[in-house]
Amino acid sequence: MGFDHRELFRNSIRKFINKEVIPNINGWKKEGKIPKEIYKKFGQMGYFGLAFEQKYGGSNSEIWYTVIILEEISRVNPTGFAAALASHFYLSLMHINNIANENQKQKYLVPGIKGDLIGCIAFEEPFMSFDSGNIKTTAVKNGENYVINGSKNFIANSINSDYILVPVKMDPNSKSQENKIILVERDRTGLKFIKSNKLGSHTSDMTEISFENVKVPIENLLGDQDKEFDLVGHSVYESLSMATISVGTSQFALETTLKYLKEREVFGDPLAKFQVLRHRIAKMASEIELNRQFLINLYTRFEKGDYLFKEALMAKLIATQLCDRVTLHCFQMFGGNGPIEEYPITRIWRDSKSKQIGGGTSEILCEIISKAIIDRKGFNSVKTEKKKQTSKI
Ligand SMILES: Cc1cc2nc3c(=O)[nH]c(=O)nc-3n(C[C@H](O)[C@H](O)[C@H](O)COP(=O)(O)OP(=O)(O)OC[C@H]3O[C@@H](n4cnc5c(N)ncnc54)[C@H](O)[C@@H]3O)c2cc1C
Repeated sequence: MGFDHRELFRNSIRKFINKEVIPNINGWKKEGKIPKEIYKKFGQMGYFGLAFEQKYGGSNSEIWYTVIILEEISRVNPTGFAAALASHFYLSLMHINNIANENQKQKYLVPGIKGDLIGCIAFEEPFMSFDSGNIKTTAVKNGENYVINGSKNFIANSINSDYILVPVKMDPNSKSQENKIILVERDRTGLKFIKSNKLGSHTSDMTEISFENVKVPIENLLGDQDKEFDLVGHSVYESLSMATISVGTSQFALETTLKYLKEREVFGDPLAKFQVLRHRIAKMASEIELNRQFLINLYTRFEKGDYLFKEALMAKLIATQLCDRVTLHCFQMFGGNGPIEEYPITRIWRDSKSKQIGGGTSEILCEIISKAIIDRKGFNSVKTEKKKQTSKI
């Protein structure tokens, strides 16, 4: 399908969001989460299945359709909406598609694409940060079960989720770190969720999760015994999605501000007539376009199966910093209305701050990118090593 089809698709999802999401978003913000019905509605429209095979209920579409979904959900204010949805349809389903065995795909991918079963991924821990070599949460085999102990922190979408994908260390006594993903249904005994009160992103829930002797059957080990948790592969997906959402939010902030600059008059002229503000808009629009073009280049290469770890991290690094800068400048251009809750820029700015933290902080991304550039360290994903790409996202 070509460019025209993509624009038609963009129009249709924008209309859908304007009808099903925008009129309700303030109520959801007050509740601190989005309702489960909205996942079902996205599922019924086929929006969660774009990247997956038809035999699982997907449409196996080009990657650009997933990119369009990410761009469009990033225009919903508060932008936590995008995080809640992407945590399910982009990250959880991607892991299930890439690692799970056929039974697990029937059980979780098929209803996940329909929006009937929702998932999230719980990687970060209170005493481990973005380092799969140091996962402390353990899963020990005991007869027909795994027994899980440990805790996970800052887990987005975990209140809405029916199951959690939990990267765990398999043998607590072994010096070598063997990490797998175990799927834990949310009603298992020994699971405890403590809700976190965040600064922003109020439509995306977040909790700290503790696991105290949580028993799950051995069938809950995602994939076969040789399937590992692949942090490198995970980071490529997460970084590309967060870069896309950040560019989308920057564009949305710019458009929202331009509208305001044209409406608000001071000294007898609309703000949009003042050169300082016009130049600021011009610079921001240029930077947004530059980032967008970089992403188009990366997705084109990704679609061809190129290995893009360093570049995906670079995209996340610069796009989240851009989003931080653009939303701050836009906030300033709203003057006294900037911090007034009723004005859209307040939330856009507030929600953008955490983009440089979630999915790997800017400092950690710089650390990894510098190792790749200066020390020529190679970071191979499990998938790259197997030279096999199984999903479009
Ligand atoms: C909105 C949001 C959503 C999230 N969603 C999820 C989720 O769904 N699932 C999940 O598993 N996690 C999630 N996270 C967790 C997120 O990935 C971590 O917060 C992030 O990786 C940072 O880890 P930390 O909080 O432990 O910070 P720390 O590691 O304690 O870092 C503190 C500060 O020190 C800096 N720092 C740390 N190490 C270094 C170093 N070596 N060199 C230089 N500076 C360093 C950091 O950059 C940071 O500024 C989410 C976080 C946020 C904010």
